[in-house]
Amino acid sequence: MSDAEYDHAAVERRWQEAWDEADVYRTPDDVEDPTYVLGMYPYPSGKLHMGHVRNYTITDAYARYRRLRGDDVLHPMGWDAFGLPAENAAKERDTNPRDWTFDCIETMRDQMESMGFGYDWEREITTCTPDYYEWNQWLFSWFHEEGLVDRRDAEVNWCPHCETVLADEQVEGEAELCWRCDTPVEQRELEQWFLKITEYADELLEDIDDLEGWPNSVRQMQRNWIGRQEGTELEFSIDGHGSVDAFTTRVDTIHGATFFALAPDHPISEGLAETDEDVRRFIEEEADPEGDEPNGVETDLTATNPVTGEEIPVYVADFVLSDVGTGALMAVPGHDERDHAFATKMDEEIVPVVAPEPEDWDGETVPEAPDVSEEAYTEDGVLVNSGEYSGLESDVARERLTDEIDTAEWTTQYQLRDWGISRQRYWGTPIPVVHCHDGCGSVVLPEEDLPVELPEFINTTGNPLDAAEEWKETTCPDCGGDATRETDTMDTFVDSSWYFLRYVSPDLVEAPFDLERANDWMPVDQYVGGIEHAVMHLLYSRFFTKVLADHEGLEHREPFANLLAQGMVQLEGEKMSKSKGNVVSPQRIVEEYGADTARLFMMQAAQPERDFDWSEEGVRSTYAFLNRLKGMVEDYTANEPNGEDDAVASYVDSEIDATVAIATEKYDELTFNRALRQTQDLVRTLRQYADYAEPHATTYERGLSAVVRLLAPVAPHIAEELYDELGYDGFAAAAEWPTAEVDRDHVRKRRQLVENTREDVRDIVDVAGIEDPTELDVVVAPDWKYDALEIAVESDADNLIGELMGEDHIREQGDAAADYGQDLQAEREALSTTLEPEAEYDALESAAWLLEREFEAPVSVRRAEEADESVLKNAEPGRPAIEIEDGN
Ligand SMILES: [Zn+2]
Ligand SMILES: [Zn+2]
Repeated sequence: MSDAEYDHAAVERRWQEAWDEADVYRTPDDVEDPTYVLGMYPYPSGKLHMGHVRNYTITDAYARYRRLRGDDVLHPMGWDAFGLPAENAAKERDTNPRDWTFDCIETMRDQMESMGFGYDWEREITTCTPDYYEWNQWLFSWFHEEGLVDRRDAEVNWCPHCETVLADEQVEGEAELCWRCDTPVEQRELEQWFLKITEYADELLEDIDDLEGWPNSVRQMQRNWIGRQEGTELEFSIDGHGSVDAFTTRVDTIHGATFFALAPDHPISEGLAETDEDVRRFIEEEADPEGDEPNGVETDLTATNPVTGEEIPVYVADFVLSDVGTGALMAVPGHDERDHAFATKMDEEIVPVVAPEPEDWDGETVPEAPDVSEEAYTEDGVLVNSGEYSGLESDVARERLTDEIDTAEWTTQYQLRDWGISRQRYWGTPIPVVHCHDGCGSVVLPEEDLPVELPEFINTTGNPLDAAEEWKETTCPDCGGDATRETDTMDTFVDSSWYFLRYVSPDLVEAPFDLERANDWMPVDQYVGGIEHAVMHLLYSRFFTKVLADHEGLEHREPFANLLAQGMVQLEGEKMSKSKGNVVSPQRIVEEYGADTARLFMMQAAQPERDFDWSEEGVRSTYAFLNRLKGMVEDYTANEPNGEDDAVASYVDSEIDATVAIATEKYDELTFNRALRQTQDLVRTLRQYADYAEPHATTYERGLSAVVRLLAPVAPHIAEELYDELGYDGFAAAAEWPTAEVDRDHVRKRRQLVENTREDVRDIVDVAGIEDPTELDVVVAPDWKYDALEIAVESDADNLIGELMGEDHIREQGDAAADYGQDLQAEREALSTTLEPEAEYDALESAAWLLEREFEAPVSVRRAEEADESVLKNAEPGRPAIEIEDGN
């Protein structure tokens, strides 16, 4: 076998060109319902990094696998091409964002091709082209028509020196300084455009339950983000300030409200700050809503509990958030952990008003109040210390109190806010609106005026669109008078909220997507991307899909049937990042070892969801594996073997079947690492086979051919090369997937038996210091032990030995039976059944060559009836007795 390294660059280039020429990855428009495999499209930032490579290797491997299984596959790629980094890069390099972006795209597309990713490039989309972004504008106009667009004041970052709005990314450090001039940034209210995602809050929340192909973590993050809470809104009156709305999910605890708390930006808090120095300092300097512990400052106000009439102190506290609920709450330290922590710190009273329901509660008696001085009791229960409500269960009390308190009503609160899409920057989709000077107000442009194209980039400190005087001036579509264009652009999450629909018909000029085809092809069957998109991108995409279903006839209400959030590629336990300087360049790896090595190493290193550490050693050993495999195939074709179809061949045959069956199942589950481990084990078995004897040609070729196809999704170039070498016509990428039916339980037990036996032999050789084994005897246990094991596995009797001795044929074994019974008793928890004795004999017989090869000694496998009593006592089901003759 040759040790020479193969010319991976030549091999990979050859097959990339061949695929290209044959259009192997093209998805024709007329296929019915392709399996849609999609990786989140990248931001063209310069070069592919390892995170990209992992993401796209996962989708590529799965897309290739589905194609090999006979599916039509849709596997497109595009560019999330708008965004602030391009604007900054253009300024730094004195170019414009468009040129810079297209340069990056060029580079990254080349890199993707060199990685061998099988995309249908005819479907490529680039969001910064008018062909694409006009549909963002069209969707905006159309959302507007459906009443899903709103314009209202919202806070933006404002640099008073540059006199410009800044994006969050342009505000630097904790001191919040302008990125250009280091002036402290202020907040300003500006009119902004919003998409009313909150109208879909309930559906977005409820449908999460049906997303069974999504990771639970992502589903939970979306639930939390939407943050629906059912509760009671009611008024507390604050002296001198009238009624203040408060929201609570636990109105049953109202008798235990010992203080009242306002958010730092609640209007009352802001008013107090003007006269009360402590409040001002707290709001401006101390409040930290993200901090671990609740902080606050007492005011000189009191609030009146609407049920008890009691006056309680009012605090301004940072754990009350103005954008959640009403920005004001009644604090019940006896029954809320955070309120408890705050009350303890401020030395406020803690009163128990709910008790755990006693086990044999009669439904009437008021139970004893719990001790809540150390810890809040946060569960529902039975009310105590609550006047006429004492003795009611929590849920009943909530109903009655909400009914009976004058100002109280049931409400549902959400954490989800409408989606503000206005960005005061250049490199995005212009919002298709003009502001009329003659009283029409803000007018959304009709379809015929679209697209509104971006003007040439102007390098300015402020928003380039604002500086584009000529572009800005226009006429009003309603009255024909003078008007000014909106200079805000859209959040780039708008682009990505529907791009998966554009791939279906990327060149369509009449509509954003072909409805009929989208109905056939959607949803995306397998979506893959980073966990950082768990909320915004994935939630906005769901929102768009639902709106399109309601108003445009899309027949799918969810965009992504299955979602995989891939783990990170780390270096020495840390996330790779340019700023830390711990980056492994995909390009270098491809140059040194080839794309196949990089892909195979990544995919076998870990399950796709897990983080893993990059290891140069792992890369080298992957490369060595591919070289060895190539050598094996070349040796085979150069010298076709002429061996017997014997027991060894039958062992190898059964291993081929087992590998194919298990690897296929693992590919279906996207646990590529397991599929690849199986495949590599088979390669080892084949190598050992060729090393041990002249292989049976049909068996050996079948094995090599299976390996090549099992590797084809992950290492596609070398797979093509070897498929060709083996004499097949056509592409490995379009080959037929190998299939085999096996009894998985049988395979597992057989492999375990062989492995145990080999290990035992190694142990004996080692412990007994045998230097030159001349003969190995492997003896299968007697039948009665299998019976005893089966009884032990199934029995739940306390006295197992008694039960065993109840069987005549076991009891007849005398001491041997008693000894074995004791062994079984001792290991009872861990017992499992094995193959039948005859099947064990066959399995060992066919695997004997592995022992012969490893220990260079003849092996005889014997049945129990052919062996001495003294040997048999060591034989157990699943663990044959072993005797070794030492030649020394
Ligand atoms: Zn500035
Ligand atoms: Zn007008």
